[in-house]
Amino acid sequence: MPCVHPLLNADLHCHSTVSDGTLEPEALAARAKAGGVELWALTDHDEVSGLQRARVAASKLGLPWLSGCEISVSFAGVTVHIVGLGFDADDAALRAGLARTRGGREVRAHEIAAGLAQVGIHGAFEGALPYVGNPELISRTHFARCLVERGVCSDMSEVFRRYLTEGKPGYVPHRWAGLGDAVRWITAAGGLAVIAHPARYKFTPTEEYALFSEFKAHGGRGVEVVSGSHSATEAVKYGAMALEFELLASRGSDFHSPTESRTDLGALPDLPGTLTPVWQALAERVQWPQPWPA
Ligand code: AMP
Ligand code: MN
Ligand code: MN
Ligand code: MN
Repeated sequence: MPCVHPLLNADLHCHSTVSDGTLEPEALAARAKAGGVELWALTDHDEVSGLQRARVAASKLGLPWLSGCEISVSFAGVTVHIVGLGFDADDAALRAGLARTRGGREVRAHEIAAGLAQVGIHGAFEGALPYVGNPELISRTHFARCLVERGVCSDMSEVFRRYLTEGKPGYVPHRWAGLGDAVRWITAAGGLAVIAHPARYKFTPTEEYALFSEFKAHGGRGVEVVSGSHSATEAVKYGAMALEFELLASRGSDFHSPTESRTDLGALPDLPGTLTPVWQALAERVQWPQPWPA
């Protein structure tokens, strides 16, 4: 079995055009390789249809690879993201669950556009469409790109702050998968479930404790400690939570785009040495590079 060192430059969270990233799976694989990534997973939102392309591209580059996805979950009235790693991407129950989770995005997108029209931003649905790579995966991110391009806002975070978050004109509450369902789909398909970027949820300490406890009770195994959307202080906090809840630690940039993402593929701080990395439990699920034929 190849080495799964704790300080491996693993990047186990990023997005392609199959969800709301701007690069194709092959371009992401090349960027990961160029960025020094030593173990890579593509984790598109609610979708595994980019994984075959990612797997082949990683294999050609000699880049160790894991299957991945990021499932949208509703928990305590908040959207939480659960990353799945190392599952069988052909698992029928997982694929059916993801298809159900994707369902409703188009209706929601029309509602988002109607909300924006009420504040004078017309034609946002049609405006977002050119940014959508997968018709089943219309995301708020695609609306945000359209509004930046039209000059309504100067960057993506301004669009989310002014238009697309709770209480704002283009915000539409949506019911995603259940926490237990998402964890079970991943686990039953042979994978490992991870709480994505925990610092991004607006939970009280009690709600956060409930998320971690229930996630564990459902069979969840890991938490992202080092993330492109975590500060150094947040990484310390969630490193301590990983130890408290006996969770494995994950590491991922959450890269979406060369122009929008703060953290590039492979450009993350190391995991704190006190933690056990998720990849120690996933070594047998990794597609390792094949040796040259004799
Ligand atoms: P959706 O799944 O359609 O609700 O869209 C969620 C996506 O929006 C996330 O995966 C992020 O890529 C993006 N997003 C959420 N909040 C922000 C923000 N403040 N700035 C930029 N992108 C964001
Ligand atoms: Mn996203
Ligand atoms: Mn996320
Ligand atoms: Mn993500």
